[in-house]
Amino acid sequence: MSCADVEQFLGAYADGELSPERRRDLEAHLPGCPGCLALLRDLEEQNAALAALRGDEPRPPAALKRNLRRRLRRTALLTLARVLILALVVAVAAAFVPLAMAREWPPLARVLFGLSGLALFAALAPLVWRALWDVKNVVWVRLAVEEEEGQ
Ligand SMILES: [Zn+2]
Repeated sequence: MSCADVEQFLGAYADGELSPERRRDLEAHLPGCPGCLALLRDLEEQNAALAALRGDEPRPPAALKRNLRRRLRRTALLTLARVLILALVVAVAAAFVPLAMAREWPPLARVLFGLSGLALFAALAPLVWRALWDVKNVVWVRLAVEEEEGQ
């Protein structure tokens, strides 16, 4: 086997993919040829470095995706529950307005009732805004995950 042949088959040899016959020829050439021996050592070092890099990966992507999807589902459920509770509170508060207006209240009581109604909606507004923001985030992340999985 010539040096050119060795250079051609060295990669397969380092990966253990050479046929027994070729391997025997190559191994017969190596001890007498410092150049090919140095090539082989370089190749083995590169393979070892690659293997070490692969081994250093913290977690397989599949587990990461599963974890992300689980967390996304939990966030979506929490957001849905918050929106439903908020909608219930707003609906109950809104139902009280015509009920209270139907009665004959003294003027001062009407003013106080109006002010307390305003205060209630002022207190609820940030919660409504927050819930809408969360819904937007859940939809946005969901779309991003679907887009990534589609690729
Ligand atoms: Zn050689």
